[in-house]
Amino acid sequence: MSCIFCKIIKKEIPSKIAYEDDKVIAFHDISPQAPVHILVIPKKHVVTVADLQDMEVVKDLFYVMKRLAKDMGIEKSGYRIVVNHGKGAGQVVPHLHFHLLGGRSLHWPPG
Ligand code: 5GP
Ligand code: ZN
Repeated sequence: MSCIFCKIIKKEIPSKIAYEDDKVIAFHDISPQAPVHILVIPKKHVVTVADLQDMEVVKDLFYVMKRLAKDMGIEKSGYRIVVNHGKGAGQVVPHLHFHLLGGRSLHWPPG
């Protein structure tokens, strides 16, 4: 398995972990685009939204993002949750991940 995020899950690659349980792991993005930029991912390898079978894990992911937004102090100021699906949207890592971004004003529409 050459998936970089699976390697992060297995601790074969170091990361700054913000949250972890048996189904979900969240870690700080290596190239943060905002003061808070955390990647929240299912531990089970799923490539994109289109490949999602287990919708239960989506609940778990949102629970973690909600909790992290509060813990990171961006709940009141505002934050954005982004999933890039496929090449045209800029998905680089083929393991489903939610970007949790906050700590600065975020413009709309995104680029
Ligand atoms: P994508 O463009 O696929 O939606 O987002 C992939 C994200 O993963 C990028 O924001 C990138 O900075 C981040 N990333 C890529 N490799 C690593 C890594 O080894 N460690 C961490 N923490 N983040 C990574
Ligand atoms: Zn993976």
